[in-house]
Amino acid sequence: MTFEGLGIDERLIRATTELGYVNPTAIQEQAIPVLLSGTKDFIGLAQTGTGKTAAFGLPLLHVIDAAAKYPQALVVCPTRELCLQIVKEIELFKKYMTGISVVAVYGGSSIGLQIRDLKRGVQIVVATPGRLIDLIERKAINLEEIKYVVLDEADEMLNMGFQDDIEFILKNTPQRDSTWLFSATMPPEIRKVSKRYMKDPKEVTVGKVNMANKSIDHQYYLTTAQHRYETLKRIIDFNPGIYGIIFTRTKMDAQEISEKLTREGYDIDALHGDLTQGQRDKVMGQFRDKSLQLLIATDVAARGIDVQGITHVINYELPDDVEVYTHRSGRTGRAGNQGICISIIHAKEAYKLKQIERINNSQFHKLDIPSGKDVCRKQFFHFMDKLLSTDISHGDYETYVPMLAERFADVSKEDVLKRVAAMEFDRFLKYYENAEDLNLRDKGRRDPSERGGDRNKSREGGRGDGRKEYTRGGSGYTRLFVNLGTKDGFFKASFLQFILDMSDLRKEVLGRIDMKDMNSWIEIEKGAAQQMIRSLDGKNYKGRRIRMNDADTGGRR
Ligand code: AMP
Repeated sequence: MTFEGLGIDERLIRATTELGYVNPTAIQEQAIPVLLSGTKDFIGLAQTGTGKTAAFGLPLLHVIDAAAKYPQALVVCPTRELCLQIVKEIELFKKYMTGISVVAVYGGSSIGLQIRDLKRGVQIVVATPGRLIDLIERKAINLEEIKYVVLDEADEMLNMGFQDDIEFILKNTPQRDSTWLFSATMPPEIRKVSKRYMKDPKEVTVGKVNMANKSIDHQYYLTTAQHRYETLKRIIDFNPGIYGIIFTRTKMDAQEISEKLTREGYDIDALHGDLTQGQRDKVMGQFRDKSLQLLIATDVAARGIDVQGITHVINYELPDDVEVYTHRSGRTGRAGNQGICISIIHAKEAYKLKQIERINNSQFHKLDIPSGKDVCRKQFFHFMDKLLSTDISHGDYETYVPMLAERFADVSKEDVLKRVAAMEFDRFLKYYENAEDLNLRDKGRRDPSERGGDRNKSREGGRGDGRKEYTRGGSGYTRLFVNLGTKDGFFKASFLQFILDMSDLRKEVLGRIDMKDMNSWIEIEKGAAQQMIRSLDGKNYKGRRIRMNDADTGGRR
């Protein structure tokens, strides 16, 4: 088959020949004659790199009325890069056609300039959904005469949370009589859109169509609700090269976790609805250029984020909707890369996994939450790799060698390595020295505060053992002793913050706090006492071992 045989304009053939296209690709062969024959609606299922752009670009140029100077065709695609690429290719294809102009409109770039471009009388607009909506709302784009709408990489657009935007765009093109949809996969949401907005679409498939993105490994870790934060930290520590997005349900969680992790030395920032556009752009800029390793966001704030090379998506909590899970996980494993989507779940959420597996036709893998030792080992190997791959070919290192040799004359190579490792690892080794097992193993070992029945039992036990009940406007408090005090540099507020951070408890569980030079006493709800003790007792603070126990019995309960 040749391009002539497909029936396209001779000027377009001249251009494609110059580009070195000899024969049409499979999708071009199947799509072009159909699109030229006046078929209104079309679905092309094909992966990227199969020549999709020419498959819709050539017919579009063929049918556009060059004499009419208003937008007639709209191509909607998920990302700025794709947007620019499509425009570039269309520019090449139309080399021998006069009077047709095409413009790219996408977010993260001056809207003023794009508005100016639109006013020049363009016929083809290539847009990302967010920016297009912005232009529609500002009445800066005229969609009244749009006849052709192309949705390119429709599944990616839905993955990125653009479903509502796409429907809005389709609703706002009153003269649209042809809708051409291209997608690599055919998830149910796309079927829905096609049913709603297309009439008897002609469907063409090239190659194999996957239901779900097989390049994503779906993993989960089972823990208690109280250990979610600690589990998150462990996952991050266990993946030293991680470049990821963490999803939370609420913006408060996103903000709190981001602040907490930042305080603990992690490279993270939050994206949530309270940020100004400027702040949001700044965070996104840092994340995009990888000066920020982790981004934590709510689903709404992360809408439309398009970043290449994300290694991990972490669900701090599972979303209620399967669709939301799909959107989240779709941020990784893109453009032929492998990706990992991790969910931290507790026992009650297990049923949701089944639901997601069923609907997404994917499979979850349960992994053990790494132990403190595992984390240290992983960090150690990562560090060694980093050390060995450090580029020392440039710079003046050679000139320092004699000096270094002299300085280290009495230190063995092993000792130097140990010292380097110690500098890098002390933080991890100390932190993980007494790290507990965060896995939810079986019923017998489940955290009592996780289940109502056990919580009641411990209350009853508390009443019967003769210990005092402390009150902070009610019963059910107990008192803990800890060997930290004002001599350790704490004020009450910083101490409160410290114990809450360590234990991942909320301030509401605490009663009165008495601080002395060397020790302090903390009133705390009985149900939360165990978690506080477990989180602090035996850990280190500035090199000193923390001792925390029930102030009245003296021992760990
Ligand atoms: P696409 O899937 O549209 O991103 O295209 C992938 C690449 O294939 C682009 O670099 C195109 O320029 C190229 N291409 C598209 N159609 C043809 C063709 N018929 N013959 C040779 N190369 C093509």
